[in-house]
Amino acid sequence: MDPIIGIDLGTTNSAVAYLSEQEPEIILNALGGRLTPSIVGIDEAGVVLVGAAARELQVVRPDRCVSLFKRWMGSDRTVTLGGRTLTPEELSGFVLRSLKADAEAFFQKPITRAVVTVPAYFNDQQRKATIAAGRIAGLTVERILNEPTAAAIAYGFQGADENKIVLVFDLGGGTFDVSVVEQFDGTLEVRSSAGETSLGGEDFTRTMAARVLESVGLPFERAEATLPLVVSRVLQQCERAKCQLSREATATIRVPDGTGDLVNGKEVIVTREQLEKWVAPILARIEQPIRRVLADARLTREKIDEVILVGGATRMPLVVQRVRDLFGREPRGRLNPDEVVALGAAVQAGLVERNAAVNDLVVTDVSPFTLGIEVSKEFQSETKSGYFDPVIDRNTVIPVSRMKRYTTMQPNQTSIMVKIYQGESRRVGENLLLGEFEVQGIPAGPRGQEVDVRFTYDLNGILEIEATVVATKKMISHVIARHAKGLSEASIRKAVRDMEKLKAHPRDETRNHYILTRADRLYKELSAEHRRFLGSLIDGFEAALESREPETIERYREGLEDFIAEFDASNDDPTGNSDE
Ligand code: AMP
Repeated sequence: MDPIIGIDLGTTNSAVAYLSEQEPEIILNALGGRLTPSIVGIDEAGVVLVGAAARELQVVRPDRCVSLFKRWMGSDRTVTLGGRTLTPEELSGFVLRSLKADAEAFFQKPITRAVVTVPAYFNDQQRKATIAAGRIAGLTVERILNEPTAAAIAYGFQGADENKIVLVFDLGGGTFDVSVVEQFDGTLEVRSSAGETSLGGEDFTRTMAARVLESVGLPFERAEATLPLVVSRVLQQCERAKCQLSREATATIRVPDGTGDLVNGKEVIVTREQLEKWVAPILARIEQPIRRVLADARLTREKIDEVILVGGATRMPLVVQRVRDLFGREPRGRLNPDEVVALGAAVQAGLVERNAAVNDLVVTDVSPFTLGIEVSKEFQSETKSGYFDPVIDRNTVIPVSRMKRYTTMQPNQTSIMVKIYQGESRRVGENLLLGEFEVQGIPAGPRGQEVDVRFTYDLNGILEIEATVVATKKMISHVIARHAKGLSEASIRKAVRDMEKLKAHPRDETRNHYILTRADRLYKELSAEHRRFLGSLIDGFEAALESREPETIERYREGLEDFIAEFDASNDDPTGNSDE
């Protein structure tokens, strides 16, 4: 049987892992990196770039690249790149296809099955969109796994004999998730989950960029509309500076002039203290989900034995300090916070394929939000609609199937509209509409005719609804909620066909292409003297590529790589992260 891979499809970075005989391991990408930036670009030649190469292109051609599209999963937002309109499912599909290719290169055989992680707080639409992204990439998603659960699995896998209550604190690029997990006798039981789908490190970067631009007299929104290249460079510099401020007290950001040229830009020095003051109001938003997750698990902070940090943004000292203050203990971060989710997904993949290494592990998870339908209520003689009636309460162990009986409110009412919502408010207006359908064929008669509605929530966190008219015992519909948003079956099939038509770089050329894009970008930012030298190296490399002789290509590529590495070392990498 072909192996199943574990994929962390992240907002900022993605990673792929597999379960070896002993433990989960990360699979390297075509550039030898452990993380692949979740960035997609289409270059001038119409070729799709994913990962570090797209990140390079993004700095000089932000109009041809897109990142953070995980935040649009399950919505109908699209983006146009190089004349092509792409859905978030297709964009995620590109990232998944690139990770699939890395796994295929590693195993030397086709890979068609994966466990893919999502934020615990992803709703039904966002989960379905993730499964669709997998299909577009040629992957069957065997299981959708919640990210904090994946992290708990990666830790639990190593200390399966311990009994304890763990809180997983997962602050990534775009989402915040928190889960309470009880570990006992080889079982991992998620007791509760909560979170926010729009809170993460990218918000810190954007806030920082806004403040830096303001300090040189450029309001962020105006700059975004009129000087996209400047904003793109400042964002990239702030991303680097933010990470630098996790290690050092100050960082310098160069704001380019109006043309986006770095040479005559202004320098802004930001201290760690300043950054912490700017991001504190955003970080404060972690507190409510933490309160909720503890209340739902019926625990106080003191009962938590261990706090596990997951997600790149937990590298910020301020975040670690907040966690320390909140729980009165030192959080644990033994596993790399960027990799732990993919590692957990690989263990889950092992569970799906019944790999001997994970025989004894049992994992249970919960539904992180309440699911129910809209009902009307009678107040004396008045009927008011718009109330939410829960069918499955939040933090119920999944899989779960619950039934509730409803009755007609009018005489001779022969149909009812079932509107399915997710959320915690008493009023449906404040909750999220997941779908609706009509139950017909109710016998005419007095009010009070009965209809049973059953909600089934599967292991992937995906919902199915059935409705039965009690009098006729006939199940009217076996309905999978029709979604207000998201791709239809026909659009998924079309996306699969389109994906096959699109040009992508052969995997073995990725490294060459990446180096060339990076060198090109560096060239634009160098002084005349350095430029001449780099220019000759680029010419040589291009000629070598034309020659198609592997040894010549490698020799010239190494020359270029050495130059870039030397330049990065002496300039603290002004062109951005080189930390693949
Ligand atoms: P993830 O989604 O888990 O890959 O997390 C990505 C987020 O972590 C991005 O917003 C990064 O800027 C942030 N991040 C990564 N490394 C650091 C660091 N050393 N200091 C601060 N933030 C970081």
